[in-house]
Amino acid sequence: MKPFGYDRAETAAEAVAAGAGGATYLGGGTNLVDLMKLGVVAPDRLVDVSRLPHAEIEERGHGGLRIGAAVRNSDLAVHPAVRERYPVLAEALLAGASGQLRNLATVGGNLLQRTRCPYFQDVTKPCNKRSPGSGCPARAGEHRNLAILGHSEHCVATHPSDMAVALAALGATVHVQTTGGERTYPMPGLHRLPGEEPERDTELEPGDLITAVELDAPAPRSAYRKVRDRASFAFAVVSVAAAVDLRDGAIRNPRIALGGVAHAPWRAHAAERALEGAAATPDSFAAAAEAELARAQPLRDNAFKVPLTRNILITTLEELCA
Ligand SMILES: Cc1cc2nc3c(=O)[nH]c(=O)nc-3n(C[C@H](O)[C@H](O)[C@H](O)COP(=O)(O)OP(=O)(O)OC[C@H]3O[C@@H](n4cnc5c(N)ncnc54)[C@H](O)[C@@H]3O)c2cc1C
Ligand code: SF4
Repeated sequence: MKPFGYDRAETAAEAVAAGAGGATYLGGGTNLVDLMKLGVVAPDRLVDVSRLPHAEIEERGHGGLRIGAAVRNSDLAVHPAVRERYPVLAEALLAGASGQLRNLATVGGNLLQRTRCPYFQDVTKPCNKRSPGSGCPARAGEHRNLAILGHSEHCVATHPSDMAVALAALGATVHVQTTGGERTYPMPGLHRLPGEEPERDTELEPGDLITAVELDAPAPRSAYRKVRDRASFAFAVVSVAAAVDLRDGAIRNPRIALGGVAHAPWRAHAAERALEGAAATPDSFAAAAEAELARAQPLRDNAFKVPLTRNILITTLEELCA
């Protein structure tokens, strides 16, 4: 590993100044340090932002919450307000990684973790995301667990975070400190589809510091369901985060996001349109899944994800509306 400097930021302003000068933020380090060991990234200087005063979960008006970027994934998952008001978020967090990793992982780092595409993590292989213009071997090679929606000829990677999928369904707002002041990004909206610039995972500029995530009104009828290759310690093959309101047997305000299917958490707008006002029946759920997945463009070895996504979406909606 290349030698690197380490500093601990005391304030957000201090961190942003260091970030603008080329330093890399360190949260829990559970992704960044792995990538440094693999040689995928080689920062000269790390600035530890895990001890900034961003570790609080605060009440907001209308039952919302403001979650500091340094809150650990374990603490967020078990917070009573999260468990009661946003079960989809608690379930997504607990479906991710392992207990030890969640104890270290921060909200900011979780949102910005990098793809698990095997070529991205192997510096002996070309990869447009790691080395722009070098090619995308995953297209013709190993892509069983890569994207079926929104990919480009330049990259077919998937975004790995479970938490981000729940935040996309909840329509969370991500607060970011930049050298020019504060900015916010809606979820989805922070993460990008690959297009012609797969090296850019998000809309953030170098040095932008995530400070908090804000949740609006509670979503008590919500759930996260994840299919993975083994029962724990594994990334999503596909996942569904869903929140619905039910009135007189009809669905209102459905909010659905898919994970493991695209370069960003995928908000299922077509499924939501099909569900709004529909009777909460298996036929409606199936029609919503079909509407969303009509746009799927599976690759040679991941067509199985299309029926898998349909089935887990239908099952999740059935559970939520029971
Ligand atoms: C074996 C294993 C299994 C895993 N399984 C899952 C899983 O099933 N589901 C899942 O979702 N995740 C999984 N993970 C990933 C894990 O959730 C992430 O590694 C973790 O959430 C990253 O958080 P961190 O604080 O450690 O980030 P770090 O590793 O510290 O940082 C990640 C990135 O975020 C940047 N960063 C950190 N904080 C900020 C900030 N405040 N503002 C701006 N940039 C920032 C860093 O510069 C870096 O680029 C797994 C990881 C491992 C090692
Ligand atoms: S899918 Fe994306 S991350 Fe994977 S090899 Fe292709 S360009 Fe790299």
